[in-house]
Amino acid sequence: MVTKQQLIEGPRDKCHVVLLGAGASRAAFGKNLPVMNDFVQTLKLRPLIDEAGLDVGNEKNFEVIYDQLVCDSRHENTARKIECRIREYFSGLALPVEATIYDRLLVSLRPTDAVFTFNWDPFLFDAYRRNYGAVPLPGIFFLHGNVRIGACRGCGKWGARSVICPNCSQMFVDVPLLYPIGKKDYSKVLYIQSVWESAKLFFREAFTLTIFGYGAPASDVAAVQLLRLAWVNEERPRTFEHIEIIDTATQSDLYDRWSPFTPTHHCHFTTAFKNSHIARWPRRSCESYFYPMTQGKPCEDFPLPPTDNLAELQRYAADIARHEVG
Ligand SMILES: [Zn+2]
Repeated sequence: MVTKQQLIEGPRDKCHVVLLGAGASRAAFGKNLPVMNDFVQTLKLRPLIDEAGLDVGNEKNFEVIYDQLVCDSRHENTARKIECRIREYFSGLALPVEATIYDRLLVSLRPTDAVFTFNWDPFLFDAYRRNYGAVPLPGIFFLHGNVRIGACRGCGKWGARSVICPNCSQMFVDVPLLYPIGKKDYSKVLYIQSVWESAKLFFREAFTLTIFGYGAPASDVAAVQLLRLAWVNEERPRTFEHIEIIDTATQSDLYDRWSPFTPTHHCHFTTAFKNSHIARWPRRSCESYFYPMTQGKPCEDFPLPPTDNLAELQRYAADIARHEVG
């Protein structure tokens, strides 16, 4: 029994790319998830910064403070301690038993889709693991490393921490978490290099991009370049694109922040994941844009059920996945 217009006339070979920032984890897990502006306070980093004798004035953005630290080799030790503190804090976090926004996001995308995250918290990785096998999932990529993953120094293969590489028989090593924003050098770590290469490819080919809780492209040179070079592809201008922003900021702030990246202005803002195309047309988000464009009429939604029961959610997604080829 397939309805809702045969699940919008069957899946097409189109790719939905999702970019997650700290706001996504905060939306899913609440205030104990820090964002860059309260990071120092939440992780109690102030004594370490003071001990290093660094004068940060009123600066609250952790990335800016960290930048100052790494620009001076005298602070190497402090920078290392801060990275340890970050690992400790985020490694200790765990998903609740109930289904979270991260579970909902993953089961609603297909293997041709991709989720890129800047977040160090373990939720995307852990949600991937517990949904794996229940329904075909999208690829996941950690642009700034992650506390749960390790990677092979020899070949760049990655997986859970402290696992032995099946290719090289070497133990996976931790992927560094901190990259100074002023001169981010992603080429030093094989895993990170390959993730940024993948990001360029995916962003270039994406039919739809969802940016969820990502607030600061202006201060992150590499991220701006990624969005500019790949999404707003200057060599091959797009005739249309669909960008969905999930964010709690005001519409006018969001418009100011994102309009440089959306030249044809097909940009849609929403404050909650449940109202997004991904949640309303699970596993058919691209088709939910494509169908009205080509048929000239809207398509009915078939949103994820409002349950926090993970098995129920997986069953719902698996029913849709049954109508996907391959
Ligand atoms: Zn290897």
